[in-house]
Amino acid sequence: MDDSGRFVARHVASLPKSGIRDFFAIVSKMKDAVSLGIGEPDFVTPFHIREAAMNALEKGRTSYTDNRGTSQLREEISRYVAKNYGPEYNPETEILATIGVSEALDIMLRATLNPGDKVLYHEPCYVSYAPSVTLCHAEAVPVRTTSADQFALDPAALRAAWQPGCKVLVINFPTNPTGGTADRAKLLEIAKFAIEKDLLVASDEIYSELTFEGDHVSIASLPGMRERTVFLHGFSKAFAMTGFRIGYACGPAAVIDGMLKVHQYGIMCASIISQEAAVEALRNGRDSMLHMRDKYRERRDFIVRRFNELGLPCHLPRGAFYAFPQVSVTGLDAMTFAQKLLEQQKVAMVPGTAFGAAGAGFCRASFSTSYERIHEAGERIARFLDTIRRG
Ligand code: PMP
Repeated sequence: MDDSGRFVARHVASLPKSGIRDFFAIVSKMKDAVSLGIGEPDFVTPFHIREAAMNALEKGRTSYTDNRGTSQLREEISRYVAKNYGPEYNPETEILATIGVSEALDIMLRATLNPGDKVLYHEPCYVSYAPSVTLCHAEAVPVRTTSADQFALDPAALRAAWQPGCKVLVINFPTNPTGGTADRAKLLEIAKFAIEKDLLVASDEIYSELTFEGDHVSIASLPGMRERTVFLHGFSKAFAMTGFRIGYACGPAAVIDGMLKVHQYGIMCASIISQEAAVEALRNGRDSMLHMRDKYRERRDFIVRRFNELGLPCHLPRGAFYAFPQVSVTGLDAMTFAQKLLEQQKVAMVPGTAFGAAGAGFCRASFSTSYERIHEAGERIARFLDTIRRG
């Protein structure tokens, strides 16, 4: 009998397992399933980027690097961020290469939170935010976003959710799982609030290049925000580099220094091979990135139209690669809908509740899969809805 659970720390034992994993263990064993569940690009990393990784290996570049990342990569990051987002960061002191945005967010929270501090974030959101906060012995404070508002963060809701002890605000535009964004006017209000309450903002920009409507604005570029924002970004989504596990954080030197300590002792440095590939992505990856973005946009237009035609209300996500239709109109809750759809028609979508209580009544459908598969999913969902309607 395995009773080793008694060794697991209380705050870890109490964390729920990600609702997505069990579901997708079933899907991966199912023949002929169409998965709209996956949260990563269906594209392989563009060849010239893979080639940079191969060249690194060929040249025998297999060592550790500076804890902060190679100076070459930090200089490229500095140029890329200044050009595309506005703020200028010093590669020597204000930039840190990490193991994806996952590590960047984790060490940012670990470097800044004292036990009992509170962290505001908008929900539905990426599955790791609340657990990462709990792992710091801190308290997660969700702010609800709604479909009526296209899942943009409403500054009034943020103000209402605030409590004494809130130290950090995590934002993510475009948002996983809703594709919600905040325009400049909303961001200005959020920025004003962050200054008023002296919040440190973590801005997860991982889907920013995959913005389909309007221009993406980073909160770090707004007046008074550079000095209280940690800009978190990576290569997984826009450059289809999930397996490279590479990302970065830019921010004021003292915060980056704190993060560097956590990174230094826990990780040492990001893989040199991935860092070389990342340099190539930043230098020459724009065309492949734009090509992928255009494909996502075509698929988005198709899938959103299809959901609405089928009677599942679905807003137009302004970025990322997820549609978030309302399934509660069928009379089923999100989990039952997803389970029955999988059993009866072998189509996998993720119940919205996997992304927090605010996702109740919705499912996430990823369109990072081929147009043909999305089309097939649409046909199957139509058949499924027919059976529900016929009772
Ligand atoms: N933030 C968001 C919003 C995400 O959706 C993901 C990945 N699904 C991550 C961070 C983590 O990305 P990375 O591969 O850079 O660790």
